[in-house]
Amino acid sequence: MKDPTPRMEVFSQLSASDHELVLFCHDSATGLRAIIAVHNTALGPSLGGLRMWNYASEQEALFDVLRLARGMTYKSAVAGLSLGGGKAVILGDSRAHKTEALLRRFGQFVNDLGGKYITAEDVGIGTSDIETIRRETPHVAGLADRSGDPSPFTAFGVWLSIKAAMKRVMGQDDLSGRSVMVQGTGNVGLELVKLLRRDGAKVLAHDVNDASLKAAIEAGAQAVSGDAVHSAAVDVYAPCALGASLNPSTIPKLRCSVVAGAANNQLLDEARDGQALHDRGILYVPDFVANAGGIINISLEKTGVYCHDRAMMLTGNIYDTVTHLFATCDCDRVLPQQAAMGLAKKRLREAGNPRSLGRSDLQS
Ligand code: NAD
Repeated sequence: MKDPTPRMEVFSQLSASDHELVLFCHDSATGLRAIIAVHNTALGPSLGGLRMWNYASEQEALFDVLRLARGMTYKSAVAGLSLGGGKAVILGDSRAHKTEALLRRFGQFVNDLGGKYITAEDVGIGTSDIETIRRETPHVAGLADRSGDPSPFTAFGVWLSIKAAMKRVMGQDDLSGRSVMVQGTGNVGLELVKLLRRDGAKVLAHDVNDASLKAAIEAGAQAVSGDAVHSAAVDVYAPCALGASLNPSTIPKLRCSVVAGAANNQLLDEARDGQALHDRGILYVPDFVANAGGIINISLEKTGVYCHDRAMMLTGNIYDTVTHLFATCDCDRVLPQQAAMGLAKKRLREAGNPRSLGRSDLQS
């Protein structure tokens, strides 16, 4: 008899990406449906934001959280932090379904993991929500009375990445008179617009949310339609919305020299789409290198006494990290994504915790 059970293929997804643990959280009373993914704890407890999003399907939510958690492992490893990679998603519309009870129930699930996963803000979740979750668990980060909003640090790191990439492509990192397309002008994107405008760059912007776009226009950006996001002739395209914006339908349209932005998992398929950018002569700064400012800032809260200036100084290292990465690409004849993953895997291997290392992390 044919098995009538719908195919979920969860373990094949886990096996392909080498995650340590995935927790499916369900609570009928609050309507909570959440997934916590811990990718790798070889370097320390996993830390990564909590995203609340109205996913089209449970598969899409699982796909997203697995990729996000894995990206956090590589991000912290390249940034030299003593943190592992993890992430969580709550399925639902943050504007309609987010309640105190739901967040607190999620906090109880985080607490059950005993510190293996530390949660923080991400898309759809603000620092006030993390305050609510803190009532149920100490395993939270990025609170107002500690390291605060990570977004300005993330934006600072993205801005430095853009400068380092422009130096490589144009021979100088002065952004005055350069043009940048910022897709998504939320917490990070808006800060980036301000930094770019301060440099005298021409900034084009698009956001699906009118209020976010209005704030960008007030900061000096010119609004463009969604159709123009990928096809606008600019020096830099900075994806600062959601992931997978670099794919076979968008890459052929791009008319830029550099891609560097805050969004996680920008390449839909790392190998294929990284190669496609290279083939089009576009220099790509891997997202988990460019957007590490926020986690660098948060890490200070977990590993010592928090200091804003120290966080800025450490985030400032992103310029050199990106420059070093391009040199590695030249020496090893690899693309930026492979070079960055190589750096991360080297650190993971050196951490020497084979139990926590997946098969793919032990290779190359
Ligand atoms: P946010 O929710 O404040 O902003 C995201 C913005 O993107 C929103 O204004 C939303 O309306 C817009 N958006 C969504 N889909 C869009 C689309 N198709 N086109 C245009 N705009 C669209 O989130 P954020 O904190 O600014 O983070 C932005 C991205 O950077 C996310 O992918 C996040 O995971 C990543 N990131 C953020 C941080 C941080 O410190 N906040 C750190 C690392 C990575």
